[in-house]
Amino acid sequence: MLITGAMAHEALVLRRVRGVDPARALDALVDVVIEGGRITRVGPDAGASLLHEPRVRVIERVGAWLLPGLIDLHTHLREPGDTHKEDLTSGLAAAAAGGFVAVCAMPNTRPVNDSRVFTEMLVQKAKAIGGTRLYPIAAITVGQKGEALTEMGDLKEGGAIAVSDDGRCVTSSAVMRRALEYASTFDLPVIQHAEDHALTEGAEMHEGAVSTRLGLRGWPRVAEDIIVARDILLAEYTRARYHVAHASTLGTARLLREAKSRGLAVTAEVTPHHLLLTDAALLGYDTACKVNPPLRSDEDVAAIRAALADGTIDCIATDHAPHGAGDKNCELNLAAPGMIGLELCVPLLLSLVHDGTLPLRRFVEALTTSPAAVVGLTAPSLREGAVADLTLIDPEASFVIDPSRLRTKSRNTPFGGRRVKGRVLATLVGGAFAFEHESLSPEAHRG
Ligand SMILES: [Zn+2]
Repeated sequence: MLITGAMAHEALVLRRVRGVDPARALDALVDVVIEGGRITRVGPDAGASLLHEPRVRVIERVGAWLLPGLIDLHTHLREPGDTHKEDLTSGLAAAAAGGFVAVCAMPNTRPVNDSRVFTEMLVQKAKAIGGTRLYPIAAITVGQKGEALTEMGDLKEGGAIAVSDDGRCVTSSAVMRRALEYASTFDLPVIQHAEDHALTEGAEMHEGAVSTRLGLRGWPRVAEDIIVARDILLAEYTRARYHVAHASTLGTARLLREAKSRGLAVTAEVTPHHLLLTDAALLGYDTACKVNPPLRSDEDVAAIRAALADGTIDCIATDHAPHGAGDKNCELNLAAPGMIGLELCVPLLLSLVHDGTLPLRRFVEALTTSPAAVVGLTAPSLREGAVADLTLIDPEASFVIDPSRLRTKSRNTPFGGRRVKGRVLATLVGGAFAFEHESLSPEAHRG
């Protein structure tokens, strides 16, 4: 892990940045001063007196945005079990390069994270690596088998911030009811992978006109809607905290809107790929576009975009799912579902901010305060006294995505070759650089 910059300096001044922090209604040109791992001053010209001091590093980049550090609620780090696809070191490096100060790691590794010992091991290993913070999500059921509940109190004490059987749905209503009741006694949110497996057996893509044309077996959107509808009823009945992972359908958006209008503690996330691609991307049988839930139709994409913009869908989460070449260089029905996302989330989704689809305020909330609230973390903030967990972005930097240059071990993305506008310049965790883009280094300016 690269720790540079602030460590060698007594203070860091981020000069004349556009500070955007919706939680404090801040959107203004400010200086932000960081000393001892915390933000010590915020305001117009707040760093002016420090500019020529020795041992002060000044970063001034015209037009750069400074945001509270981004949090990913849904990351697959593959350790243990599949470290050829990703491990904690490469995954946390990818997260830092993507602007994330924290990631929540899903438990469907091999073996599954369903114990306190496992959870504590992840926390300790990640601390030793440094940089982006890791918060484990533990399993709802032992071995993610959908039967016996895990020891959620122990898991929480070990560091788990939520429970999920992600990759599998908790299909039994009785198990889900008990999971919600049990988790709520420890104030843990239950994150559901909403898929009625009886309706999706052998599915290769979204069920619709495109699957019919290609002759592929479909995953109907109603298989998601049925579970979300049932779970909302159960969450209401048990007064538990319920969160929908990777919401992908028009129906889910409608159900969430209705549940929220009644004040239920129901939240949801959406992935960049479900916001940006439709099932038409499968027309060339591209296995990089096979994800679960599948890429949906135009009307689903329009509905989840609107739901994210108006806050019905709370969060953006990457569902970063690294796979090796062998898992994707095969026929569509054999290919593993999922795509990488940590390093591409910001550049890809800024297209929706630039074109007005997604207000900047919502983009920032959906990656900072909202995910923090779902899992009960203190949200990073541009407030004096706050821990300096921050993300610096150049919203105008234009480049072409080259998967071979990413820090993740895997290359499974359909976005290679796409021109994007917006780049992460730096990720600060506790005031130290977890990531620093090459264009920021003092050498780059001298040369
Ligand atoms: Zn999932």
